[in-house]
Amino acid sequence: LGPAYSFMIRVAIPGGALTPQQYLALDDLADRLGNATLRITTRQAIQYHGVHKGGLKPLIQTLHRHLLTTLSACGDVVRNVVACPAPFADGVRAEVLAYAQALSQRLKPRTRAYYEIWLDGEKAVSAEESEPLYGDTYLPRKFKIAFAAPGDNCVDVYTQDIGIVPVVGQGLEGFTLLVGGGLGQSHGLKETRPILAKPLTTIPKAQLFEVVEAIVRVQRDHGRRDERKYSRMKYLVETWGLERFKATVEAYLGTPLPPAEPLHWASGDDHLGWHEQGDGRLFLGLFVENGRVRDELRRGIRAAVEQLGLEVRLTPQQNLLFINVPPEQKAQLEALLQAHGVPIPFQGQIPLVVQQAMACPALPTCGLAITEAERAMPKVIREVDALLTQLGLQEGPIPHIRMTGCPNGCARPYSAEVGLVGRSLNSYTLYLGGSPLGTRLGEPFLDNLKREDIAPVLRPLLAYYKEARLEGEAFGDFCQRVGLEALRERLHAAQT
Ligand code: SF4
Repeated sequence: LGPAYSFMIRVAIPGGALTPQQYLALDDLADRLGNATLRITTRQAIQYHGVHKGGLKPLIQTLHRHLLTTLSACGDVVRNVVACPAPFADGVRAEVLAYAQALSQRLKPRTRAYYEIWLDGEKAVSAEESEPLYGDTYLPRKFKIAFAAPGDNCVDVYTQDIGIVPVVGQGLEGFTLLVGGGLGQSHGLKETRPILAKPLTTIPKAQLFEVVEAIVRVQRDHGRRDERKYSRMKYLVETWGLERFKATVEAYLGTPLPPAEPLHWASGDDHLGWHEQGDGRLFLGLFVENGRVRDELRRGIRAAVEQLGLEVRLTPQQNLLFINVPPEQKAQLEALLQAHGVPIPFQGQIPLVVQQAMACPALPTCGLAITEAERAMPKVIREVDALLTQLGLQEGPIPHIRMTGCPNGCARPYSAEVGLVGRSLNSYTLYLGGSPLGTRLGEPFLDNLKREDIAPVLRPLLAYYKEARLEGEAFGDFCQRVGLEALRERLHAAQT
């Protein structure tokens, strides 16, 4: 008997957009070849965990039959292209999603090896296409791209290698591009750190593909390849400075780039609950705790898709939208979900702090995890909810809290108001002061915080917030305004 290898398989789904048939196919595979769960990721992808070696090929082949792929969902390539999933009929978002899907397709590797290995494509060396973008050695490291919606930063656009923000006049006119964001860092390597993307340029929409490709080529040719820990594009932008980086992109393009226009943000929320789309139909944002679709939640979603034929969008905060719901189906959809015990956001069943929290998969399914996240977060976040209730803070503004099992930061803890980053077994570094709009990083506040001490440490800080906040001020903004030293003094006073 050989070892019983099992794998994580990630499906790239640009913009998280799925037809009912695609969703049902994904759901079937969870039972047939996975561990009976679907895991929605922070890049609107789906992960299967616990796929046995013999299940890889049938899984990938089934995906392919439904026009889905795992190609470039992982690896040193442009990963799944993210886009705001909200289907508001504002004359812009549908076009932005189409751009995201087209860009994703354009940036896929041209390799035939994937098809030969997984889909039994005939090997034809003479027909092997070269890689016009990736060359022989692909990129130095993974590369992330996201499209925001105007004023709506649910995608965390500043945390991407390239963040793309629509410019709207008479409809969609162009895009502002941000470059050099990324959150991963390595404990003990001071030069590695989370960095937010910086505005590079604002361009007409017709130029988008060539400018994005030029940026990717600059990173391909100049990103560090001698040390993976410094190979993300953020370090190239930092080392060179934005001016030199921009000049190099312009040289690759052969044309100058105009300056970036200022950006304005109104929200970073994930579109949960019921919304009117603006075309007579509705959409419902369903809360998926830590992205794990399992048990009754999975059966409820499946029933809704199967019986009502609903389209699905996966969100960048690991939730799920049912879109294009005719108003006459609203009651039926609610009844179906209720029959499976699936709560609807903002109807009093899910505490707000729980609803806007995120954790990465971590143990036991992520090989890089050093401590728990997805399995620990439900208890931790409910302790924080109890704390908010005790302090009379349950009406909001409610802090966004995110946890990861290692410093890679897949659930974007560094841009949260409260970030918990795995430090060692059962202990975390606490970050405070991120913006609820995703425009500012938190700062390290406390190291080696034991999981059971998270709520007790937050108690005096939240009490201070209650006492001294400005009207409507978010917790992250408060922490930034009063400063970490004042917060440390409060904590110290409470502990002595
Ligand atoms: Fe794994 Fe770390 Fe990413 Fe969590 S943050 S999923 S532990 S790599």
